[in-house]
Amino acid sequence: SGRFAKPSTPTQKVTFADVAGQDQAKREVSELVEFLRDPERFQKVGAEVPHGVLLVGPPGTGKTLLAKALAGEADVPFFSTSGSEFIEVFVGVGAARVRKMFEAARRAAPAIIFIDELDSIGRTRGTGLGGGHDEREQTLNQILAELDGFGGREAVVVLAATNRPDVLDPALLRPGRFDRHVTLNLPDKNARRAILNIHASRLPLEDSSDLDTMAAGTTGFSGADLKNLLNEAAINAARRNASLITSDDLGEARDKVIMGTVRSLAIRP
Ligand code: ATP
Repeated sequence: SGRFAKPSTPTQKVTFADVAGQDQAKREVSELVEFLRDPERFQKVGAEVPHGVLLVGPPGTGKTLLAKALAGEADVPFFSTSGSEFIEVFVGVGAARVRKMFEAARRAAPAIIFIDELDSIGRTRGTGLGGGHDEREQTLNQILAELDGFGGREAVVVLAATNRPDVLDPALLRPGRFDRHVTLNLPDKNARRAILNIHASRLPLEDSSDLDTMAAGTTGFSGADLKNLLNEAAINAARRNASLITSDDLGEARDKVIMGTVRSLAIRP
């Protein structure tokens, strides 16, 4: 019952156009759109489409966004959970939660399941100091069992995200499980400009060419960092009681993101 009975329905549909850069990743994931839109076309001729796709990349590079965009493009329900939820929220009921989510997705098929932070639940089994990881291992085993339980042609695609593919239990990566890997990278200058463009579209910038300067001066920033930078700049402008966001606002915001103080500011009321 409860949480997984219904998929989350984002109020606004996410599409590939919302994901800036990441062209290779978008191309790879978009192959699944056709299948999800019309699984029967594939089933009819006995074509088996991969069920498990691992999205690999640093934090904030758009893994969750890309998974949602696939659901939006294919127009299918999106069931999502996070590995850390199993550690923090579903204590004692992890395996049952996994079973219910897969059950609900199968009923709603064609559908997408998204497991964020797979590494927090999917680390190599039997490596915990002094044991005590039975609960986590049961959850992981249930995920493996569900992946194995797919008939080759069931129209459920399972996407999982991680920034630590190196710590994953090798069992997760075997054929028929997460055997397809899609890599997301930190954005280059052009991609940073495109990301800034998307997130600044509704912001009152004094001079939109400031975004070129920002794109050039934010090497190493993720998409999430750039989004934070713009929001912090808007907060700066509001504090000044200004109606336009200036290059100074942007510069200060960039420094804050670099100092790592933005996140804490953002959650302060
Ligand atoms: P994490 O590993 O921290 O979960 P993630 O890779 O799943 O991160 P998202 O949660 O998808 O990253 O990104 C956070 C937010 O940053 C997104 O909701 C989006 O607003 C913005 N963002 C990240 N990458 C991009 C991108 N390529 N294009 C546009 N926006 C992006």
